Amino acid sequence: DRAAGLQRGPERTKLLTVTVVGGGFSGVEGFGELLALATALLKQYPEIGPDEPAFHLVEARDRILPEVTDRPGAWVVRSLEKRGARVHLNTQMVSAEGGRVRLSDGTEYDSGLLVWTAGNAANPIVHNHSDLPVDERGLLTVRADLRVTTGTEVVPDAWAAGDDASVPDLAAGRAGARTVPNAQHAVRQGKLLAKNILASLRGRPTKDYVHRSLGVVATLGLGRGIFQYRRLVVKGFPAWLMHRGYHVLAIPSWERKTRVFAVWVTALLYGRDIVSLASVQHPREAFVSRGELRGGEEPAQSGDRLTA
Ligand SMILES: Cc1cc2nc3c(=O)[nH]c(=O)nc-3n(C[C@H](O)[C@H](O)[C@H](O)COP(=O)(O)OP(=O)(O)OC[C@H]3O[C@@H](n4cnc5c(N)ncnc54)[C@H](O)[C@@H]3O)c2cc1C
Repeated sequence: DRAAGLQRGPERTKLLTVTVVGGGFSGVEGFGELLALATALLKQYPEIGPDEPAFHLVEARDRILPEVTDRPGAWVVRSLEKRGARVHLNTQMVSAEGGRVRLSDGTEYDSGLLVWTAGNAANPIVHNHSDLPVDERGLLTVRADLRVTTGTEVVPDAWAAGDDASVPDLAAGRAGARTVPNAQHAVRQGKLLAKNILASLRGRPTKDYVHRSLGVVATLGLGRGIFQYRRLVVKGFPAWLMHRGYHVLAIPSWERKTRVFAVWVTALLYGRDIVSLASVQHPREAFVSRGELRGGEEPAQSGDRLTA
């Protein structure tokens, strides 16, 4: 919206340039969705040419989406590039001072939006402010039944699950394998943790956590996605449908499932519901910046107020 009000030039180019750092699931999904949103928005801004928005995905390794195998990963890169995006593999962001992005491959440009999705880390409170045992990544070490352990001894009455726990992955069939930090594991571990606490209080044996991955699925924007389960790969629209279907089923309670599904159906019928969040936070800004209202001055009558 701001770019459309400017003449072509460096400021407008900067506003239309997006950088996402990190080619993991969060980075690629966020990047694909932003690209799809920007493409949809262009229909409402004929002042902006289709060649103007620039999308850069920066990834330090030679491939994106580490959870899928090489060929589907390469397909995702090609499909993003076909949509006009630039994917910088084997490249790190060196600096982004003042919005000036410098990449290790020598590329330099101004970017109005920078999204950082390069990795997650253990919660510092646990490893800095508790004496509970943690591994080299700072994650709580637990046995397969989710009791916290030093490796040799169980810590009495301490349990952990989810992203901040280093849980043995018994389904992986490899010694030392740990479950990856995703909701697929976290939700199941949470349920087992509750059952195991109850079992231990009642003097019954606890159960080990074992879960075989149901596959990985990512969206790449509206109507596009990728799914992989072992050697089975589904691309494009069917993968996107599977993503939506799986996630709506994963939402807790039928009330929530129905609400979310209803919003999706409305969007299917009437298209994207595009609202400027900036206008919601600062509704007066457009008037103030155009000189129609001075900062701090209220409109004459409440009826004059505009709603987004
Ligand atoms: C952008 C994004 C997309 C993702 N997409 C997927 C996906 O499609 N599929 C999938 O399986 N997984 C996905 N994940 C991963 C998934 O969200 C996590 O694995 C899951 O949420 C982990 O659950 P958790 O309960 O262990 O931790 P969290 O969901 O992080 O919950 C921890 C909670 O503890 C709170 N907390 C932290 N410190 C304290 C404190 N000191 N006191 C009190 N409360 C505290 C936090 O505020 C938070 O609410 C995604 C993650 C991200 C970031």
